[in-house]
Amino acid sequence: MNKMLVLNNAFLIDGKGGDPQPGVSVVVADGIIKEVSHKEVRIDGARKIDLQGACLMPGLIDAHVHPGALDLNLEDQINIPPTVFVHKTTRNLENDLKLGFTTLRDGCTLDGGFRTAIEQGYIKGPRLYLATSQIVQSGAESYGPGYKLRDPMPQNSLGMIPQVCDGPDEVRRGARRALGLGADQIKIFASGEVVSQSKEDRATPDQWKFTVPEIAAAVETAEAAGTYVMAHAYGATAIQNCIHAGVRSIEHGNLMNPETAALMAEKRVFYVPTLTCYQVLAKESRGYMTSYMIEKLETVLDKGLEALEMAYRAGVKICSGSDIVGPNQELKGRELALKAEVMTPMEAIVSATRTNAELINMADKLGTVEPDKLADIIVVDSNPLEDLSLFEKGFESVIMVLKNGQIMKNTLS
Ligand SMILES: [Zn+2]
Repeated sequence: MNKMLVLNNAFLIDGKGGDPQPGVSVVVADGIIKEVSHKEVRIDGARKIDLQGACLMPGLIDAHVHPGALDLNLEDQINIPPTVFVHKTTRNLENDLKLGFTTLRDGCTLDGGFRTAIEQGYIKGPRLYLATSQIVQSGAESYGPGYKLRDPMPQNSLGMIPQVCDGPDEVRRGARRALGLGADQIKIFASGEVVSQSKEDRATPDQWKFTVPEIAAAVETAEAAGTYVMAHAYGATAIQNCIHAGVRSIEHGNLMNPETAALMAEKRVFYVPTLTCYQVLAKESRGYMTSYMIEKLETVLDKGLEALEMAYRAGVKICSGSDIVGPNQELKGRELALKAEVMTPMEAIVSATRTNAELINMADKLGTVEPDKLADIIVVDSNPLEDLSLFEKGFESVIMVLKNGQIMKNTLS
């Protein structure tokens, strides 16, 4: 048995949405939360840390990330030497842990090697749930110089490529290939995109792409492998196609309407709004975008909060994803404060902890601070319910990070 760790005098936000509790002790051993007590706990031989009233909460989960999308320009991205790509992506993953994100769900282009390197202890990073290779239809992938029609352009210099599929049989094959590459979930593009750079891809975000039978083939393949489909979808028709096909989570959804929000609530489909990426693209990363990307960005930018409000009012299960591509990935904690323009601060925290854990089928192990859960815990230097923007400054404000009971960051002592 590893040495026990006792975190005393915590101001606990447990991830379940109830009132915070002061003066709580949390006991961790063997990677597991053993006890959550309202009294100070004394255990002989245990390592004790007095948190002095600092806020202890579940490790954050970001349900939509791209740590390997280093450059917004795909041609520049694929020309990053593979070794440099691995080191820079690793730096993003290390940073995410320091920011308090103990789990990430990748929306595509990380290969399974990153997950293995983290699990084997070669690099430090969050738990990874990978989509590996995304399912796109022909004409949607980013062609570049030297690539023929229907040749998918690599997404990075490790040679990760999208699965270009037309018709249910090809989607089935594409989904199986993604699973073969180590996908934890299947990612499908059910509508046009903002950041696609294909000369042939004139689809705008409001245009739907795959048909219901095509999406259903991905869902069937994923379910046969014990997993599910996450779908990039902006507009009402694309979202409804996904819902009818049995998709588990709708990503972005900026252009939904109230009827679609009601259907999402009825079918218990998870919604992963990704407000941060549009704001970061519009502000911090604007100079990295082409005029066509900016044109498309304008059509979804202000719609994100409206969509969140529709979904929130309809009672949809709301998750949390930042979806930052290119530079400025360290701003991913901004998502919580942005959501609090619609939800309460506590609801924003629950979306990034318990609801995200439910989305990735890990509700029994992650997302709340309770006995028998994995000890993924963070400590922050002030009360997030009073100011959620502290998560955007996580390098300073997150003072302790435990993943699997291991202290990954501690600036307290
Ligand atoms: Zn994405």
